[in-house]
Amino acid sequence: MRNLDPFLCCVVPAHNEAENLKEFIPALSQSLKQQNIRFEILVVDDGSKDNTIEVLQELLKDYPLRVLELSRNFGKEAALYAGLDHVDADLVLLIDADFQHPINVIPIMLNLWKEGYEMIYGIRNRETESWIKKSCTKIFYKILNASSTVDIPENAGDFRLLDAKVVHAIRNLPERNLYMKGLYAWVGFKSIGILFNEKERWIRKFEQLL
Ligand code: UDP
Ligand code: MG
Repeated sequence: MRNLDPFLCCVVPAHNEAENLKEFIPALSQSLKQQNIRFEILVVDDGSKDNTIEVLQELLKDYPLRVLELSRNFGKEAALYAGLDHVDADLVLLIDADFQHPINVIPIMLNLWKEGYEMIYGIRNRETESWIKKSCTKIFYKILNASSTVDIPENAGDFRLLDAKVVHAIRNLPERNLYMKGLYAWVGFKSIGILFNEKERWIRKFEQLL
């Protein structure tokens, strides 16, 4: 068992998420406060065109927030990677801004870390999906895993808790062709997956509302 007083950095990629962030940052902060863990939230603004930055500036007054502003929209994977490059913490949580990654799974992830796991990844529960979609996913992973040297766990995404060791290893890879799922698998470490029910995107993005 780990007996530490760890500092957690939550990396949140955000592209046009002003409306979600207004609710998400308070909700995430409240949940972490209840966990009695020292934390900060690093939002990576991935070239948003809505008022994400203004909303974050407001939230900065009340929450332990840092903002990394990218010069344009690079895509989620690059935003996460940029975030990982700017953290200095004992453990790092990667979580989306749209509430699709359920906040109530975080305490379970933290407990698994305390038990000694170094990478805890969320696995999307696909039970409710159609058999066609499930079959396509199966075939995709069969092909992917046949062609790579490490096994990439099925249905595992970017909802993850990473020990600083893992972050360090990923940061030190020469790889710049970003396929984050491949990088997580490549670096190894004591890992475990936990099943979660992905939620609906909370508020649709502003470009989808136009
Ligand atoms: N995101 C980003 N850059 C992009 C697209 C998305 O940083 O170019 C962020 C987005 O704001 C959200 C997360 O990545 O916090 C997941 O994006 P989205 O909900 O669009 O994708 P999905 O749920 O389909 O994975
Ligand atoms: Mg989403």
